[in-house]
Amino acid sequence: MAVGRIPENTIEEILSRIDIVEVISGYIPLKRAGRNFRTLCPFHHEKTPSFMVSADRQIYHCFGCGKGGNAISFLIEYERLEFPEAVEALAKKAGIALPESQKQDVGTTSLTTQLYKINELTALFYGSNLDSPPALSAKNYLLKRGIKEESIKLFKLGYALDKWDALIGHLRAKNISLSFLEKAGLILPKESGGYYDRFRNRIIFPISDIKSRVIAFGARVLDNTLPKYVNSPETPIYTKGKSLYGLPAATDAIRENDYAVIVEGYLDFIIPYQSGLKNIVASCGTALTTEQARLLKRYTHNVVIVYDGDMAGELATLRTLDIFIEEGMNVRVVCLPQGFDPDSFVRKNGIENFKQKVQQAQNLFDYKLNILKSRHSIKEAEGKARIASEMLPTINKFKNAILKSEYIKKLSEELNVAEHHIIEESNKVKDDKPFSAPAQASAKKALDINPTEKLLIKMMLEETETINRIKEHLEPADFQDERVSRIVSIMFDFVAQGKSVGTSILINHFAEEDISQIISESVFLEVSSGDKDRVIDDCIQRLKGKKIKLQRQHLHNQIKTAQASGDQIRLDSLMEEFHQLIKKRD
Ligand SMILES: [Zn+2]
Repeated sequence: MAVGRIPENTIEEILSRIDIVEVISGYIPLKRAGRNFRTLCPFHHEKTPSFMVSADRQIYHCFGCGKGGNAISFLIEYERLEFPEAVEALAKKAGIALPESQKQDVGTTSLTTQLYKINELTALFYGSNLDSPPALSAKNYLLKRGIKEESIKLFKLGYALDKWDALIGHLRAKNISLSFLEKAGLILPKESGGYYDRFRNRIIFPISDIKSRVIAFGARVLDNTLPKYVNSPETPIYTKGKSLYGLPAATDAIRENDYAVIVEGYLDFIIPYQSGLKNIVASCGTALTTEQARLLKRYTHNVVIVYDGDMAGELATLRTLDIFIEEGMNVRVVCLPQGFDPDSFVRKNGIENFKQKVQQAQNLFDYKLNILKSRHSIKEAEGKARIASEMLPTINKFKNAILKSEYIKKLSEELNVAEHHIIEESNKVKDDKPFSAPAQASAKKALDINPTEKLLIKMMLEETETINRIKEHLEPADFQDERVSRIVSIMFDFVAQGKSVGTSILINHFAEEDISQIISESVFLEVSSGDKDRVIDDCIQRLKGKKIKLQRQHLHNQIKTAQASGDQIRLDSLMEEFHQLIKKRD
């Protein structure tokens, strides 16, 4: 891999200290399967788990899409980190300090650290305000809305005083510079010079990232003045649409229930949460984004979107849900009765009724189709065309070819239109790939290498002794696949230097994704135990045989050329070589 500035031995130390099972299960639940762990692949959509993690070898491999590698590759793939970022994250986990110069952007790091600290202090300040006399009406408002004291504490709810400089005064006394406060989005410059607090006379909802660090604030008015909500602007630590309100408090329940309920507002989140529905998050007003889908995908592949009564049937809103399908997730939708949002529904009808509504959620396809059917006549050509044109972009988002063809079939039945016409229309949908086999087929193809060679890699990784044995009989070049011979060559080097060959460390020597995949796939090959020695000998003989066969073919061609050109001397020497080769075979 592109090891860059971080020394190789540091990376090897990090890899040997961390546990890949711990790293991966921090994102997705792993189940034990014999010596290994198994789960649904986070990189492609599947119904039965084919994603394997080996604690012994410290690697993972998916038999569905072929992705595989070590803990670093996992972070790069899953968190979309750059190589040095992934190494840095693991170093932190392993408690290994990287030299300062090798860290990313020291300047930005100290700024972001400052911003987290400022936000924490600000949240504390707003929180303590809530118990002060000027906040009486705010506190009463929260209690009247049914928010419990424990929720106020848990979600660090607070109050911004009705003053222009309350926060400025408080943080200035703690020696925080105004320029940092401005960067944190908490104060605004006055035209006449100086600054003023952004949030005044508002209830404050701190927004946290997945590590429970406060990254921004949402602020709500007490009366009906507009705007009802004001939020922090984007800052170096906060990007709109990249976080979900309440997620840090909900992850355990989301994992346990294997689905997440998504609502819109802060109160829509808090009221059901404190009533016992804990696998819930709030999008906080913005349209759902791919980043938010990916954030949830770390914990579950299933989401239920709860819409307010008045949102029912807004196609523009529904269209944004296609991102979940693109991420290979299952998305269901439920709509509350007219005039209700989750907050008011739970307060009026209780949590059990709300849970029941969630249970009754329809999958996106059915939900959307029902809305369209209520608007357009499914009996008339025009209506059919309108429905198809709205449904097809959604169907086209399915990456899984089987699901896609199932929905095409379903649509053709609903509309009573032949399937091939639907497919034809589907291929016309702009900006989408034509209906075809899933892309993952090609990814797997890349690994299509000789099973004997894979088997040998597996056995060499298991015992250093095997590497020595193979080294006696074969050379890296004897392996037909160029990638395999590179892997073997590195293993030979390791042994020559007296180093042990750790699988995850070996992977680290290659930048190419397909080489990591070859190694990780080999690890999980099944070999009948007991007869290992014979298997190894067999493999060696087979590769040797193949090598001789190839040499023979090559000689054969050379002899033919020599004969044709009448070069007797060359012919004699080639014939001699040929006889030697045949003897060697026996
Ligand atoms: Zn996969």
